[in-house]
Amino acid sequence: MWKVDTMTNYSMYEIIDKKKRGLELEAAEIKWVINSLTSKKIHEYQMTALLMAIFINGMTTSETAALTDAMLYSGRTLNFEGNNVIDKHSTGGVGDKASFILAPIAAACGVKVPMIAGRGLGHTGGTVDKVESIKGFKTDVNLDEFSKLLKENGQVLIGQTQEIAPADRIIYSLRDVTATVDSIPLITASIMSKKLAEGANGVVMDIKVGSGAFMKKKSDAKKLAKSILNTAKRFDKKSVALLTNMDQPLGLNVGNSLEIIESVETLKGNGPKDLTDLSLALSAWMIKLGGVETTYSKALAKAKKSIKDGSALNKFKELISAQGGDTSFIDDYSKLPVATEKYEVKSPKSAYIKSFKCDEIGLLCTELGGGRKVKTDQIDFGVGFVFNKKISQKVKEGETIFTIYHNKDQSKIVKYIEDKFFKDAIKFSDKKIDKPEIIFEIIEGK
Ligand code: URA
Repeated sequence: MWKVDTMTNYSMYEIIDKKKRGLELEAAEIKWVINSLTSKKIHEYQMTALLMAIFINGMTTSETAALTDAMLYSGRTLNFEGNNVIDKHSTGGVGDKASFILAPIAAACGVKVPMIAGRGLGHTGGTVDKVESIKGFKTDVNLDEFSKLLKENGQVLIGQTQEIAPADRIIYSLRDVTATVDSIPLITASIMSKKLAEGANGVVMDIKVGSGAFMKKKSDAKKLAKSILNTAKRFDKKSVALLTNMDQPLGLNVGNSLEIIESVETLKGNGPKDLTDLSLALSAWMIKLGGVETTYSKALAKAKKSIKDGSALNKFKELISAQGGDTSFIDDYSKLPVATEKYEVKSPKSAYIKSFKCDEIGLLCTELGGGRKVKTDQIDFGVGFVFNKKISQKVKEGETIFTIYHNKDQSKIVKYIEDKFFKDAIKFSDKKIDKPEIIFEIIEGK
């Protein structure tokens, strides 16, 4: 009925059953699972069962460490000289395009940024999907080229490869479609296996909290931060975690091309305040961890200057052309595949915006084609939302809350999105609401 590995005597059935019953797995069992997965000796459906058992019963610190190690060594690992090789990683959110802003800022300030990013996961968008809306941009780069690009340009942005943490590539796509994303050990192992393999000396973590994050509660986000910082410490890497607000989309735009446009606007100095402030803070921590500046305030001043003097925008252009992308969209957004049809969703009443159910907004973008429902779905880069109003803002009856960018044949889905948005994704208040803060807490690693 199930396969027994005759070399080790492990059986996937028994391992799943053990985890299902809440027992602790041994490091050797975890290593066997990951090896068997990458060498196709076990089935993906068996792995998804184990992932669900892990999701439900969690993992101990030792199991999480063993899973991270096994995933890390499922592929090649890189090492770069110097102290200034620093990456940032977000646990995922809606409208989170900060990587496109902070990587060029940090690179313009003398940090080397080796970024291995992900695709959309669950209701969250993916950096790799977004950047692929730029014509010609290559995210599928081998590791020799990755190292060369980092040395030459001080920045590189690629997707998960067969070479780096290949186990994560498989597990990530399984979790995406089996509701097993929001698990502290699985997120820790997924992020840290990639970060440790790509050769960064330090990592700045953006741990999202709120309705659009995988961690809905601050207490869980803090546990995730500690789990990630502990793993960084075990590998002697510098680290810091920022707990940041994901109760509403970051910035105003949600959807692949639309987010690229907003990133460029932010690099030009015209970005919305929450996105600008968060990108500057994260890049300042990269500059400080990389040892380019000794204090956070000096690092922040340097980051701000790189936007003012245009050096960060130039670095973004360099990143795109070094990876084969067409940079002409930077001065002409019509070169991006933005959907041509627009539908304005208007407020049924005059009130303040109290809250959003931000993960629902992400899922509605997926309904439109901006994300994947199954592994093989093709992304529509052009569709998405542009918000006019955010939490605490006053909206008048009939005023636009957000605009849906869609294709000609999507009128039914547009109507569905409007209905579902008012039913499930927004709450109004008659009373004034405080403007939400963007950074809740900063936890420094070792
Ligand atoms: N980002 C990752 O790379 N992995 C996760 O599991 C979640 C966010």
